[in-house]
Amino acid sequence: MSALIETSYFATAVLFILGLKRMSHPTTARSGVIWAGVGMALATLVTFLHPEIRGQYGLMLLAILIGGGVAWWSAKRVAMTDMPQMIAIYNGMGGGAAGGIAAVELMRVAGDPSLVESHGHLALWLGVLGALIGSVAFSGSVIAWAKLDGRMKKAVRFANQQQVTLAILAAAVLLGIWVALATPGAFVLFLFFLLALAFGVMVALPIGGADMPVVISLFNALTGLAVAMEGFVLDNAAMIIAGTVVGAAGSLLTVLMAKAMNRSLFNILFKQFGPASDETTEIEGSIKDVGTMDAAVQMAYADRVIIVPGYGLAVAQAQHKLWEMVELLQERGVEVSFAIHPVAGRMPGHMNVLLAEAGVPYDMIFDLEEINNDFETTDVALVIGANDVVNPVAKTDPDSPLYGMPVLNVDEARNVLVVKRGQGAGFSGVENHLFYRDNTRMVYGDGQKVVTDMIASIKTL
Ligand code: NAP
Repeated sequence: MSALIETSYFATAVLFILGLKRMSHPTTARSGVIWAGVGMALATLVTFLHPEIRGQYGLMLLAILIGGGVAWWSAKRVAMTDMPQMIAIYNGMGGGAAGGIAAVELMRVAGDPSLVESHGHLALWLGVLGALIGSVAFSGSVIAWAKLDGRMKKAVRFANQQQVTLAILAAAVLLGIWVALATPGAFVLFLFFLLALAFGVMVALPIGGADMPVVISLFNALTGLAVAMEGFVLDNAAMIIAGTVVGAAGSLLTVLMAKAMNRSLFNILFKQFGPASDETTEIEGSIKDVGTMDAAVQMAYADRVIIVPGYGLAVAQAQHKLWEMVELLQERGVEVSFAIHPVAGRMPGHMNVLLAEAGVPYDMIFDLEEINNDFETTDVALVIGANDVVNPVAKTDPDSPLYGMPVLNVDEARNVLVVKRGQGAGFSGVENHLFYRDNTRMVYGDGQKVVTDMIASIKTL
């Protein structure tokens, strides 16, 4: 039986790795999710054969029914724009599960210290570390979810916050060392978990706005690590491999996102996002708007159009209409491409998924570095629901909080059309200088309504 369980766990690990590999490209991503899902189902099924859990089937089935049921129900009805907070809460559940496993195991060890000899001291230390990391990932992710879901004020700050946070971390670490050295009873364990959870809350509280998705990715990496550590405690190969893969992927993603926003991880966690100085640069020029008919004419008679989608496209759910418009332009001989900024939208890949859903072929979609030099030879850049990712101050104003963030060179196009509802700033709250440029025209309105009107206008030409 044990050989069957081990082989199945190995197969699970292989399925996870292959699934993750397939997720790295849009054409294979869907099958990647299915492969990883099959791996997870196999690991869950084979766990029922484990000799140590005989007699617990009722509880296990109940947990699967409740957890699986809630996940199925919520994933079916979640809007694309609410995906980041859903990821935050699912990720938090993973950290919580790792912390829960650690709590049970540490209680067992407290009741029977001889277990340390049979399991080994390393497993105990890893168990404690996994408990700390998993609890932090759990409580931090819950705060991240509450913020992104608008249930909590974006950034909560108070006097001496960093000192309080560090004191909580120090106390949690000291208690953790005590737990690992002396395997004390329930009260100390309770305090240890309480402090670890409090630290997670304290890390997430001051982080606001643009940095939140990066922090979610960091918590995701921590969850993976915690699961891997608890895998050592339970001697479970599937957990070790899956946890390590998630930890590594999460860490890479965190670094990638931080880079795309030109912020160091330290800066994200410990520094407030805001202007470097109180001076605000005077904006030259004025905002000029244009009707949908004129905008449609500009595009219809252009040789080349680059479309830059952003978060507002997801809000407006305008992706299908946008593709319909692009097809019309192509029929007229206009060369159209899509330019995707690495942090356009609210999570990596947000825009790619949206465009794929509408049927936009992958070979029309380009990353920032592939297309950024093409704007200067482009007749029209159509910015739809994007803001921060096209803000030229990131290139010019050292005092701007966006300074240094790589942005799409939309301002270099001969003409720029910006579709948005009003003069509201983007996620970062920074004023966009692009809107004041001589070559920029605003097309005000909801993204879907504007594109629908543009389609009607193009058809009349
Ligand atoms: P953005 O800066 O938040 O701007 C989105 C714009 O869409 C807004 O200015 C809004 O203007 C407009 N909009 C909203 N609803 C609309 C509708 N129904 N129709 C038309 N327009 C609408 O978005 P972004 O340019 O995609 O930039 C992403 C931001 O998220 C960046 O600050 C980035 O750093 C941050 N971020 C992203 C990630 C990631 O992984 N993607 C990670 C971390 C941070 P109106 O209100 O005037 O309509």
